[in-house]
Amino acid sequence: MTAGDPLARFRAAAERRAKAGVRRRLRPRTPDHDGLIDLASNDYLGLARDPRLAAGAMAAAREWGTGSTGSRLVCGTTLLHAELDRRLADLTGSAAGLVFSSGFLANLGAVAGLAGPADLVVSDQVNHASIVDACRLSRSRVAIVPHRDVATVEHVLAERDEEHAVVVTDAVFSVDGDLAPLAALHRAVRAHGALLVVDEAHALGVVGDGGRGAAYAAGLAGEPDVVLTLTLSKSLGAQGGAVLGAPEVIDTLVDTGRSFIFDTGLNPPAVGAALAALDVLAAEPDLPARARDRARRMAALAADLGLETTAEPAAAVVPVVLGEPEAAVRGAETCARHGVRVGCFRPPSVPKGRACLRLTARASVDEADLTTLREALEAVAASTGRSLHT
Ligand code: PMP
Repeated sequence: MTAGDPLARFRAAAERRAKAGVRRRLRPRTPDHDGLIDLASNDYLGLARDPRLAAGAMAAAREWGTGSTGSRLVCGTTLLHAELDRRLADLTGSAAGLVFSSGFLANLGAVAGLAGPADLVVSDQVNHASIVDACRLSRSRVAIVPHRDVATVEHVLAERDEEHAVVVTDAVFSVDGDLAPLAALHRAVRAHGALLVVDEAHALGVVGDGGRGAAYAAGLAGEPDVVLTLTLSKSLGAQGGAVLGAPEVIDTLVDTGRSFIFDTGLNPPAVGAALAALDVLAAEPDLPARARDRARRMAALAADLGLETTAEPAAAVVPVVLGEPEAAVRGAETCARHGVRVGCFRPPSVPKGRACLRLTARASVDEADLTTLREALEAVAASTGRSLHT
């Protein structure tokens, strides 16, 4: 082996990604999203800049400090963490809860903590990357099943040799915004003695009465064979994650969940902000329905212009499929020129040929915002020639 430039291959790979239109850039923004209407963030209820959350965060920082100072098992569980564990369990109708320092780590902890090398994990093919990684980390046999295909889930469970199985799904899929068939999945899981892990990341605070989530809305709250994961960083406007479930599940993760044990506990300001967000959600129970309504109106508007979108968004996520990565990049730039910030999703976040704009609704989106969005999407439809009407 001759000595060479160890970074050359990374430069070459970056050039290849640039050619394929999938190079990503960090674009630091201003507090007001550069003056654009924000339809890109996951701040579905508009709480991330709510003074009540800032007050909760500041009070927590003053009383408990800016860092939690250790693993939750050592000294990183404050009384505030214990309160948040409890209140998230109460909100979702679960027996017990456990706060992690992100939703990503909650998924790693739940799946890899509840399934091991002797087990089977069944995972929807468009599950979030954190679930994909969690499956690998479990070292279980992983069966990837077609999107929302309950019959295949049932078949794989019935045919398995493993004694234990875990079925894992996003509740609301993060790019297409559609809903998992949770009630049917639960029937399959129940019939075959498995566990159902549901990632409520995009459902909490948006789906179900009072934003209690998709599992609650499907009548699965508190079922012993249902485990929920969630993030505090989307509708709750804070940061962090959690796993909710039966006491046996939570005890197992406390004892064996590596992303729980070997990670520093969530910082107290984030815990304080999340608790304040739960207070806001309780005080303003119509917020989730408002976010859902705005999503439906945004989708209707896109459909009206002949763009490919979802007919009935289940939560706040509205995709507009444009096809090739370049088209999605140009579409997002067109929206920005018209005053709207939208997300731009390209492979590997979405399948090849399905690059899209991802519009996210907020409860506070008003008529003027919708008019601006319509103008932006008209320009996108005109420039891409992808209108279904043409
Ligand atoms: N699950 C889903 C479906 C997500 O979209 C995300 C965030 N992108 C996560 C989990 C991870 O949550 P967090 O950002 O809190 O790590």
